[in-house]
Amino acid sequence: MARTMTQPKNNGFDVSDIDTSVRPQDDFFHYASGDWLKKNPIPATEAIWGSFYVLRKDNKNKLKAIVEEAAQDKSAKQGSDAQMVRNLYATGMDEARRERDGVTPLRPIFEKINSIRSAEDIIPLLAFLHHTGFGGLFGFYIDQDERLNDKNIIYLAQSGLSLPDRDYYLNDDEESKRVRVEYRKHVLAMFKLLGRSPKECGIAVESIMNIETDLAKHSMTKVEQRDIEAQYNKRTIPKLTKEAPGVDWAKYFKLAGVGVPKEIIVAQPIFMKRTGEMLTEISIAEWKDYFTWHVLSGSAGFLNKTFVNENFRFYGTVLSGIKKQRPLWEKVVGFIDGSVGEALSKLYIKRHFNHEAKKKIDTLVDNLFSAYETRIKALDWMSPKTKRLALKKLHSMTRKLAYPDKWKGYKGLVLRDDSHFENFRRIQEFEWKRMIGKLKKKPDPKEWHLTVPTVNAYYNPVMNEIVFPAGIMQPPFFDPAADDAVNYGGIGAVIGHEITHGFDDQGCQFDHTGNFKNWWTEEDKKKFTKKAKVIEDQFNEYVAVDGIKVNGALTVGENIADFGGLTLAFAAFQKSQKRKKKVAIDGFTPEQRFFLGFACTERDLVRPELLKKLLVTDPHSPGIFRVNGPLSNMPEFAEVWNVKRGDKLYRDPKDRARIW
Ligand SMILES: [Zn+2]
Repeated sequence: MARTMTQPKNNGFDVSDIDTSVRPQDDFFHYASGDWLKKNPIPATEAIWGSFYVLRKDNKNKLKAIVEEAAQDKSAKQGSDAQMVRNLYATGMDEARRERDGVTPLRPIFEKINSIRSAEDIIPLLAFLHHTGFGGLFGFYIDQDERLNDKNIIYLAQSGLSLPDRDYYLNDDEESKRVRVEYRKHVLAMFKLLGRSPKECGIAVESIMNIETDLAKHSMTKVEQRDIEAQYNKRTIPKLTKEAPGVDWAKYFKLAGVGVPKEIIVAQPIFMKRTGEMLTEISIAEWKDYFTWHVLSGSAGFLNKTFVNENFRFYGTVLSGIKKQRPLWEKVVGFIDGSVGEALSKLYIKRHFNHEAKKKIDTLVDNLFSAYETRIKALDWMSPKTKRLALKKLHSMTRKLAYPDKWKGYKGLVLRDDSHFENFRRIQEFEWKRMIGKLKKKPDPKEWHLTVPTVNAYYNPVMNEIVFPAGIMQPPFFDPAADDAVNYGGIGAVIGHEITHGFDDQGCQFDHTGNFKNWWTEEDKKKFTKKAKVIEDQFNEYVAVDGIKVNGALTVGENIADFGGLTLAFAAFQKSQKRKKKVAIDGFTPEQRFFLGFACTERDLVRPELLKKLLVTDPHSPGIFRVNGPLSNMPEFAEVWNVKRGDKLYRDPKDRARIW
């Protein structure tokens, strides 16, 4: 296996990754990782490459071995984890069958679409498409009520677009224009593959652009979607009907399988109103093209090669700059993880999880909490009243580590060895029913929203919990054999980041029980908002690619979490070292190694196409600014690395952000 697949020797940080031609005081990102980046160009099948992605690829290889073993196990009982994995793998890898089938599996759905005669027929069609796993028009999901989080409730939200964000339809910058031109070509090509005449293809492109652009115009921007209050609009069905009269809502909900709910939450009332108007304003012929498109595009990955290739050309190459498709096994393994991820998770833990890591990380989390407590108590800008409630929230925050205590299971899901597409449909129907079932149940505090092998973590504000799957408890994030410095800089900063999400500009609007409810004094909130604005302004200045800047308002929550997380991790690290002897490794002090360990986890190289997309859609800043941004605010970094006035990472103490 290539050197990039496993992490460096045993020191936790490989000094040969450092680019000594860069001064750490000017650009720590390239100092710590410059030589690694030179030695590790982005593979042709990827759009972004760095620590997260190397580890993800490494995990995919582990999953491949598990899946291939399950595929051989003919004795696995119907409904067992191994049987589900085996059937999904077999049908996913069966290219011959997919070539034979072509678009045949979609025919019955196309017939349904073609049978609509009037605006009234659209709602039943939409309900059908939604519960069979296709998108279109608006989104429907069931989740905790943000203000009454011991209940689940239905949410309606804007949706129905095929480009990654509304901005692509509406903005006039070069990249948006380029993508629109390419998108038209893509839709045209897909309809051509479906056997439509050139004239019909041209008409379809216009219908789809017309409908999606209209939906885009009435959609909230990504920044507007960070406003929780604005999207919490509780409605009865009569009230919703009055606001958005074009849709027979009672009919939609009945057909979706939830009866007629008493109340629902409408995230974007303006969008829903427009949806209703569009149902009658737009011709049935146009709607047929629109829904055909959403089914075709939504299932392209399950069809034969010509569709798979065209779909990749647009979504992979045009939008992300990827040169070559991933091997089939990798796509199928990704699909299995995304659909019966729990079955795969159980098999993964048996083989790869280090229980020692869970124990050590549990202690690390304790130390981070304790460091946060000390810092909150010492804040000079927060009143005792808000501090008391902040500490209450901190003490109420729960943690989930490595893997779930309780599995959701797949009772009732029957997967067969017949067809990849049919298995996809079965999973969609099963998960839809599972979601509908939630409406009658209380939210489950044991539920996980990531699979175990996932290299990621999250904070869930409605549960006030942090979650770290086993997938991220590996080098370079965590290495039981490495020194504390790199582990605190790695997984420590990740843990700190997730805890801080409970106190970023969004998280801080939820109280200690996880309800969306203010606990701040007006004065303290004002001070906090001003502090967050410093970070927003700072990131607004960073140019990422071709003169395009980072969106400070979109990324402010993640940037607060990065900065807070790093500060907490450093404080916890120092506390842990009090009675320990300082030992330099490879010529670096433990404090210096903390920052090297941190920079190592955030290293990445990104293709310009993907970077441009991320700048529009991703609440995280690009890797370079996730390193250099928070470090330039940290007095601890300036001290450890001797950053002086005149250095590029120097920020005058009065200009530095300072929150937690
Ligand atoms: Zn985050």
